[in-house]
Amino acid sequence: MTAARRFVILGGGTAGWMAAALIAHRCRDHPISVTLVESPEIGIIGVGEGSTPQLKVFFDELGIAEREWMPACHATYKTGIRFAGWSDAPGFESYFHPFQSALDGHTAPTFYFHTRARRTGRDVAAHPDRFFLGARLAEARLGPVPGENFPFDLGYGYHFDATLVGQFLAAHATTKLGVRHVPRRVAGVRRDAGGAIAALVLDGGEEEIAGDFFIDASGFRASLIGEALGEPFESFAGNLFNNAAVALPGARDEGATSCETVSTALSCGWAWRIPLTGRTGNGYVYSSDFISADAAETELRRHLGLLDADVEARHLSMRVGQVRRSWVANCLAIGLAQGFIEPLEATALHIVHATLSGWIEALLADGFGPAHRDQFNAAIHARYEGIRDYIVCHYRMNRRDGDYWRANAEHDVLSDNLKAVMTYWFRGGELDAEVARLGIDRYYAPLSWHCLLAGYGQFPEAARLQPPEPDLPLADMAKIDRFIAGCALNFPAHDDLLAQLEEA
Ligand SMILES: Cc1cc2nc3c(=O)[nH]c(=O)nc-3n(C[C@H](O)[C@H](O)[C@H](O)COP(=O)(O)OP(=O)(O)OC[C@H]3O[C@@H](n4cnc5c(N)ncnc54)[C@H](O)[C@@H]3O)c2cc1C
Repeated sequence: MTAARRFVILGGGTAGWMAAALIAHRCRDHPISVTLVESPEIGIIGVGEGSTPQLKVFFDELGIAEREWMPACHATYKTGIRFAGWSDAPGFESYFHPFQSALDGHTAPTFYFHTRARRTGRDVAAHPDRFFLGARLAEARLGPVPGENFPFDLGYGYHFDATLVGQFLAAHATTKLGVRHVPRRVAGVRRDAGGAIAALVLDGGEEEIAGDFFIDASGFRASLIGEALGEPFESFAGNLFNNAAVALPGARDEGATSCETVSTALSCGWAWRIPLTGRTGNGYVYSSDFISADAAETELRRHLGLLDADVEARHLSMRVGQVRRSWVANCLAIGLAQGFIEPLEATALHIVHATLSGWIEALLADGFGPAHRDQFNAAIHARYEGIRDYIVCHYRMNRRDGDYWRANAEHDVLSDNLKAVMTYWFRGGELDAEVARLGIDRYYAPLSWHCLLAGYGQFPEAARLQPPEPDLPLADMAKIDRFIAGCALNFPAHDDLLAQLEEA
């Protein structure tokens, strides 16, 4: 009989519990054990309230229905992110970045055509909000799950209380999947003769938890991959300047519940606004090279109208970048221990899931061996860079005044891929084909790149635009408006959808 494989996870934040649940679930037909060690005194970071549609894939795979986890985690639906105040281009002061859906096939080609016509000097409609249903749903506060007769699914993510998601997954993993939970502080590791990790040494120094595979989910400390194994960390500070955040919980917004994250540009970074069922999550992600923590907190309070409110702020620092290799010897790093690209696109849990999925697949394909390690590491490294480039592009394309924003718009630390995207855009090339040719569509699809570049109004100045030639095959925008409005009729009020989950 094959020897049982022992998986040991260090860390009980969202990343650690996602790992515990997914490993136990995916490897359920193999002789394995999963143990998770976490220190309640150290605690979790407790922020991170938005997701991409990947979180739905994660819960679906575990067979956990929305009615089970969403009410328990104060979760709401998310159809995308609105970027407000990042551009001063008239008419482009704000735009909505939708999650993709099958329906986009009807309007995306027209959107691409229009943006290209405007890039090349024609005065035509090219604001993304006109072309995609997600923006309309968010504006009308409709939920993204259509009635039964509507034949298209819409991609959506969630907003949630990060602490409650961790607790929900912990309960699921321990009661339904047989994961062992050890609430103890880890003092160090014992290595074997080959340099791999043999055991976690618990505080006191006498007890150990031995294992075959170790998952480092210890947060920014990166206790295993960094401290114990010495894997280098590649910083992204050269082109992502934000390294700190201040979070302030707020009361639930009045009126209907929104299904968009709002990212509002402030003087030295941006503020998030995340609607949950019981409260609103707020915070300011900024660069400490441009503003002090105190001044950032004051600016956020002013932005929220909470200058005199008796609400305590939480200050956090962020390590932005990635470990060179995520899988080293018998250790896999995930979550903040693996890396972080700042929260602008709420991609952290997406990467946790993608990393775990790829790793488990690689392990199982080689009978729990390391044959696919290099390939896996290269793919994850490229994924981080692909997502980083998209986020760098947000900052690079801003059209806002102030030292911080100018520094972001002017720096030259750009990857070849990002340079190619920008060159194609500004020279009037076919960006969708170029994004596919570069192979970066697996991180952000052409639709996302178009929304970003068009959303910030990266077109010739309005005064230089000419009326389009009469024979240019432009869309009738009134028809597109009617199409989007007609589709929206199939979607219920967001609050009704949330109420149905509570009742189910
Ligand atoms: C400002 C900000 C906003 C964010 N917004 C988003 C977002 O919108 N969407 C998103 O997906 N992500 C977001 N993130 C990232 C998200 O918070 C994390 O990816 C997520 O919470 C997972 O964190 P983690 O589990 O890796 O680390 P943590 O939550 O820090 O957990 C670390 C765990 O390790 C344990 N530990 C550490 N050392 C030891 C030890 N020696 N012994 C025992 N236990 C130990 C701790 O007790 C804890 O349980 C954001 C992050 C920041 C900073």
